[in-house]
Amino acid sequence: MRIAICPGSFDPVTKGHLDIIERSAKLFDIVIVLVMINPNKTPSFTAQERADFLRIATKNIPNVKVDSYSGLLAEYAHNTGACTIIKGLRAVTDFEFEFQQALTNKKLNPELETMFVITDPKYMYLSSSMVRQVAYFGGDVSDFLPDGICEDIVKRLTQRQTKE
Ligand code: ADP
Repeated sequence: MRIAICPGSFDPVTKGHLDIIERSAKLFDIVIVLVMINPNKTPSFTAQERADFLRIATKNIPNVKVDSYSGLLAEYAHNTGACTIIKGLRAVTDFEFEFQQALTNKKLNPELETMFVITDPKYMYLSSSMVRQVAYFGGDVSDFLPDGICEDIVKRLTQRQTKE
Protein backbone atom coordinates (compact mmCIF):
# COMPACT_ATOMS: atom_id res chain seq x y z
CA MET A 1 0.00 0.00 0.00
CA ARG A 2 1.61 3.27 -1.09
CA ILE A 3 0.55 6.16 1.10
CA ALA A 4 1.28 9.82 0.31
CA ILE A 5 0.68 12.90 2.41
CA CYS A 6 -0.37 16.32 1.06
CA PRO A 7 0.36 18.68 3.97
CA GLY A 8 -0.55 22.35 4.26
CA SER A 9 -2.47 24.97 6.15
CA PHE A 10 -5.47 24.88 3.80
CA ASP A 11 -6.78 28.12 5.28
CA PRO A 12 -9.05 27.54 3.33
CA VAL A 13 -8.64 24.82 0.66
CA THR A 14 -8.65 26.29 -2.88
CA LYS A 15 -9.11 24.82 -6.35
CA GLY A 16 -5.30 24.94 -6.65
CA HIS A 17 -4.94 22.60 -3.65
CA LEU A 18 -7.73 20.34 -4.93
CA ASP A 19 -6.01 19.98 -8.32
CA ILE A 20 -2.81 18.77 -6.60
CA ILE A 21 -4.82 16.39 -4.37
CA GLU A 22 -6.74 14.90 -7.34
CA ARG A 23 -3.58 14.37 -9.35
CA SER A 24 -1.83 12.77 -6.36
CA ALA A 25 -4.78 10.43 -5.78
CA LYS A 26 -4.16 8.94 -9.25
CA LEU A 27 -0.57 8.09 -8.32
CA PHE A 28 -0.94 6.60 -4.83
CA ASP A 29 -3.18 4.02 -3.15
CA ILE A 30 -4.04 6.42 -0.35
CA VAL A 31 -3.54 10.17 -0.08
CA ILE A 32 -3.78 11.75 3.35
CA VAL A 33 -4.51 15.46 3.17
CA LEU A 34 -3.00 16.75 6.38
CA VAL A 35 -4.05 20.00 7.99
CA MET A 36 -0.91 21.13 9.79
CA ILE A 37 -1.46 22.98 13.04
CA ASN A 38 1.30 25.57 13.30
CA PRO A 39 1.50 27.23 16.74
CA ASN A 40 3.28 30.24 15.20
CA LYS A 41 0.43 31.06 12.84
CA THR A 42 -3.03 32.39 13.59
CA PRO A 43 -5.26 30.91 10.92
CA SER A 44 -8.61 32.38 9.84
CA PHE A 45 -10.27 28.97 10.21
CA THR A 46 -9.84 26.43 13.00
CA ALA A 47 -8.18 23.11 12.20
CA GLN A 48 -11.60 21.47 12.52
CA GLU A 49 -13.15 23.87 9.98
CA ARG A 50 -10.22 23.49 7.58
CA ALA A 51 -10.51 19.69 7.78
CA ASP A 52 -14.31 19.84 7.32
CA PHE A 53 -13.98 22.00 4.18
CA LEU A 54 -11.38 19.55 2.83
CA ARG A 55 -13.69 16.59 3.54
CA ILE A 56 -16.49 18.20 1.54
CA ALA A 57 -14.13 19.19 -1.30
CA THR A 58 -12.66 15.66 -1.59
CA LYS A 59 -15.80 13.62 -0.89
CA ASN A 60 -15.85 12.16 -4.42
CA ILE A 61 -12.25 10.90 -4.30
CA PRO A 62 -12.47 7.54 -2.51
CA ASN A 63 -8.76 7.11 -1.72
CA VAL A 64 -8.37 10.51 -0.05
CA LYS A 65 -8.49 10.86 3.73
CA VAL A 66 -8.32 14.07 5.73
CA ASP A 67 -6.54 14.40 9.05
CA SER A 68 -4.90 17.12 11.15
CA TYR A 69 -1.68 17.14 13.13
CA SER A 70 0.25 19.49 15.34
CA GLY A 71 3.60 17.69 15.46
CA LEU A 72 6.44 16.99 13.06
CA LEU A 73 5.42 15.91 9.57
CA ALA A 74 8.32 13.44 9.41
CA GLU A 75 6.97 11.81 12.56
CA TYR A 76 3.40 11.65 11.27
CA ALA A 77 4.68 10.02 8.07
CA HIS A 78 6.60 7.45 10.08
CA ASN A 79 3.57 6.66 12.27
CA THR A 80 1.21 6.21 9.30
CA GLY A 81 3.67 4.36 7.07
CA ALA A 82 3.55 7.05 4.37
CA CYS A 83 6.42 6.94 1.86
CA THR A 84 5.98 10.32 0.16
CA ILE A 85 5.17 13.94 0.88
CA ILE A 86 3.59 15.79 -2.01
CA LYS A 87 3.95 19.53 -2.37
CA GLY A 88 2.50 21.77 -5.06
CA LEU A 89 4.79 24.30 -6.72
CA ARG A 90 3.34 27.52 -8.10
CA ALA A 91 6.47 29.45 -8.98
CA VAL A 92 10.21 29.54 -8.47
CA THR A 93 9.51 31.62 -5.39
CA ASP A 94 7.94 28.56 -3.68
CA PHE A 95 11.04 26.54 -4.37
CA GLU A 96 13.65 27.72 -1.91
CA PHE A 97 11.45 27.22 1.14
CA GLU A 98 10.18 23.85 -0.09
CA PHE A 99 13.72 22.70 -0.85
CA GLN A 100 14.80 23.51 2.71
CA GLN A 101 11.76 21.72 4.16
CA ALA A 102 12.29 18.65 1.98
CA LEU A 103 15.92 18.36 3.08
CA THR A 104 14.94 18.77 6.74
CA ASN A 105 12.26 16.08 6.45
CA LYS A 106 14.73 13.77 4.73
CA LYS A 107 17.16 14.28 7.59
CA LEU A 108 14.45 13.55 10.18
CA ASN A 109 13.05 10.54 8.31
CA PRO A 110 15.45 9.15 5.64
CA GLU A 111 12.75 6.76 4.33
CA LEU A 112 10.56 9.67 3.31
CA GLU A 113 10.66 11.22 -0.18
CA THR A 114 9.27 14.63 -1.14
CA MET A 115 7.63 14.90 -4.56
CA PHE A 116 6.82 18.19 -6.24
CA VAL A 117 3.78 18.53 -8.46
CA ILE A 118 3.76 21.59 -10.71
CA THR A 119 0.60 23.69 -10.54
CA ASP A 120 -1.86 23.81 -13.38
CA PRO A 121 -1.08 27.24 -14.91
CA LYS A 122 -4.66 28.34 -14.35
CA TYR A 123 -4.09 28.13 -10.58
CA MET A 124 -0.62 29.63 -10.57
CA TYR A 125 -1.68 32.88 -8.94
CA LEU A 126 -4.06 31.23 -6.48
CA SER A 127 -3.36 31.13 -2.74
CA SER A 128 -5.48 30.88 0.40
CA SER A 129 -4.35 34.33 1.51
CA MET A 130 -5.45 35.83 -1.82
CA VAL A 131 -8.88 34.21 -1.44
CA ARG A 132 -9.22 35.55 2.11
CA GLN A 133 -8.29 39.03 0.99
CA VAL A 134 -10.70 39.11 -1.97
CA ALA A 135 -13.53 37.72 0.21
CA TYR A 136 -12.73 40.25 2.95
CA PHE A 137 -13.33 43.11 0.51
CA GLY A 138 -16.54 41.52 -0.79
CA GLY A 139 -15.13 40.20 -4.10
CA ASP A 140 -16.41 37.07 -5.84
CA VAL A 141 -14.28 34.08 -4.85
CA SER A 142 -16.48 31.34 -6.34
CA ASP A 143 -13.98 30.63 -9.15
CA PHE A 144 -11.22 29.98 -6.61
CA LEU A 145 -12.97 27.60 -4.22
CA PRO A 146 -14.08 23.97 -4.61
CA ASP A 147 -17.81 23.38 -5.14
CA GLY A 148 -20.03 23.13 -2.09
CA ILE A 149 -18.01 25.19 0.40
CA CYS A 150 -17.83 28.67 -1.12
CA GLU A 151 -20.93 30.13 0.54
CA ASP A 152 -19.96 28.85 3.97
CA ILE A 153 -16.39 30.14 3.69
CA VAL A 154 -17.51 33.62 2.62
CA LYS A 155 -20.18 33.73 5.34
CA ARG A 156 -17.75 32.78 8.10
CA LEU A 157 -15.05 35.18 6.86
CA THR A 158 -17.44 38.12 6.74
CA GLN A 159 -18.96 37.26 10.14
CA ARG A 160 -15.50 37.25 11.69
CA GLN A 161 -14.67 40.50 9.96
CA THR A 162 -17.69 42.29 11.49
CA LYS A 163 -16.75 41.05 14.97
CA GLU A 164 -13.25 42.57 14.72
P1 ADP B 1 -0.69 28.52 0.96
O1 ADP B 1 -1.02 28.98 2.35
O2 ADP B 1 0.70 28.86 0.48
O3 ADP B 1 -1.74 28.77 -0.06
P2 ADP B 1 -0.73 25.79 2.00
O4 ADP B 1 0.24 25.77 3.09
O5 ADP B 1 -2.15 25.63 2.36
O6 ADP B 1 -0.60 27.01 1.05
O7 ADP B 1 -0.34 24.79 0.83
C1 ADP B 1 -0.25 23.44 0.88
C2 ADP B 1 0.42 22.97 -0.40
O8 ADP B 1 -0.37 23.32 -1.54
C3 ADP B 1 1.78 23.60 -0.67
O9 ADP B 1 2.62 22.61 -1.22
C4 ADP B 1 1.51 24.67 -1.67
O10 ADP B 1 2.64 24.95 -2.48
C5 ADP B 1 0.42 24.02 -2.48
N1 ADP B 1 -0.41 24.97 -3.18
C6 ADP B 1 -1.10 26.00 -2.66
N2 ADP B 1 -1.77 26.67 -3.62
C7 ADP B 1 -1.47 26.05 -4.79
C8 ADP B 1 -1.83 26.26 -6.16
N3 ADP B 1 -2.62 27.28 -6.51
N4 ADP B 1 -1.33 25.42 -7.09
C9 ADP B 1 -0.52 24.40 -6.72
N5 ADP B 1 -0.14 24.15 -5.46
C10 ADP B 1 -0.60 24.95 -4.50
